Amino acid sequence: MTLHTVRMKGRDEPIPVGKIVCMGRNYVAHIEELNNERPDAPMFFIKPATALAPIERVRLPAYSEQARHELELAVILDTPLSRCAEADVFPAIAGYAAAIDVTLQDVQERCKAKGHPWEIAKAFDGACPCSDFVPAADVTRPEDLRLTMRVNGETRHDDSTKLMIWSIPELVAAASQYFTLEPGDIVLTGTPAGVGPLAPGDRYEIDVQHVGRFSGEVVRD
Ligand code: ZN
Repeated sequence: MTLHTVRMKGRDEPIPVGKIVCMGRNYVAHIEELNNERPDAPMFFIKPATALAPIERVRLPAYSEQARHELELAVILDTPLSRCAEADVFPAIAGYAAAIDVTLQDVQERCKAKGHPWEIAKAFDGACPCSDFVPAADVTRPEDLRLTMRVNGETRHDDSTKLMIWSIPELVAAASQYFTLEPGDIVLTGTPAGVGPLAPGDRYEIDVQHVGRFSGEVVRD
């Protein structure tokens, strides 16, 4: 399969992907939304389309010994957005998927310590396992979807998108202030609490409400 396309349920043609705009942490850590403090601005980074991979397989490159999973709700756009308003966002979303923001924690820490960019920790080939998309019309309440991920039977993520600090319209509109978003671009909406390590041989199950259930395994690339 070609890695820089994704599939949408009910559509025959694969969708070519441009870029994947990702957001730094976007969830309150605990169920009680005690912390009213909100960072000044959302933090974004980009993965290239070559980071896409099937959701059933996480491939860890040889140059890392310490990887981390971040399960995130992904949206795909079918309308260009540039410096858009929040009201423009939902009409531009074609569908939703589950994606893993695979992060090489040891590599990222080394890069940060040296003041280097950390793309090799988050944007490498395979750093964005992503499921097929479901049409937006099938996801009635994207602002309150349960996301869970279990690794070797142990619950890691179990949260709802209602705990996002920046809502989907807020964060996509904010991203469009910096990056023109084009049809086929994907936005990853940030990770809920519960990130944890991934090692070769680990098996995982993912369940994103209205999007689907997936299982997979971690292998050494
Ligand atoms: Zn992330």
